[in-house]
Amino acid sequence: MALRPYIVGNWKMNGTRSMLSEARSIDRSAQRLMKVEVALAPPYTLIHPVHREAEQIGVGAQDCHHEVEGAHTGDISATMLADAGAKFVILGHSERRQNHGETDELVNAKCHAAISAGLKLIVCCGEAEETRNAGNAESFVIAQLRTSLPETLDDAAERLAVAYEPIWAIGTGRTATTDDIAAMHGAIRALLIERFGEEQGGVVRILYGGSVKPENAREILETADVGGALVGGASLTAESFLGIVAAGADVQES
Ligand code: PEP
Repeated sequence: MALRPYIVGNWKMNGTRSMLSEARSIDRSAQRLMKVEVALAPPYTLIHPVHREAEQIGVGAQDCHHEVEGAHTGDISATMLADAGAKFVILGHSERRQNHGETDELVNAKCHAAISAGLKLIVCCGEAEETRNAGNAESFVIAQLRTSLPETLDDAAERLAVAYEPIWAIGTGRTATTDDIAAMHGAIRALLIERFGEEQGGVVRILYGGSVKPENAREILETADVGGALVGGASLTAESFLGIVAAGADVQES
């Protein structure tokens, strides 16, 4: 059975307490849009405050360390995130891979840490423009996921989402074509079924990310095997984020 569309806002390194009003507006409106599962990943400093505001939406983090505790100045563990009220964590975002040299192996270790802490996972993947132009996008993304994803996961359907985010589409205003999204999501689906079985892997939500806006959300969310969206820039105001949530509700109703 298909799960509700999952619309997740990634605030990246944006947001001080003044943005709590946006989170509150998103939460209150999400209560009227129950056909969609809505979540926000604010910066670490806002996880607990957003968690306290949220009655409806899920709250999560944008990364975690792969160890439970220790001498890792400036890092934060999955256990600490759960303690602050996080329910999920985004792992392997391309900005972490590019800016912090995160490898697929490290993302896999972080998945295990997050699972042990009881968090849900959103595991990101996506190719650079040169890789797509060379015709290697699919093999690159599948290889990335083969190593990054946990080897087994009970309740994968509930606990895991994969976000396909072509790097060249993030924050650029460009999006992949719906044909390219459908082809990539189909390949990711096949891997999820191979790894987690038809019953679980067949329903894990595969989110699309990369310049999703209220204007293009419906077309993207209607595409085969798109189970939601990971949204950066357009999640920073309640108005634009809720436009995407509303598109998800429309698609779910139609
Ligand atoms: C992201 O970085 O996860 C993202 C999808 O960003 P944007 O929506 O701004 O392209």
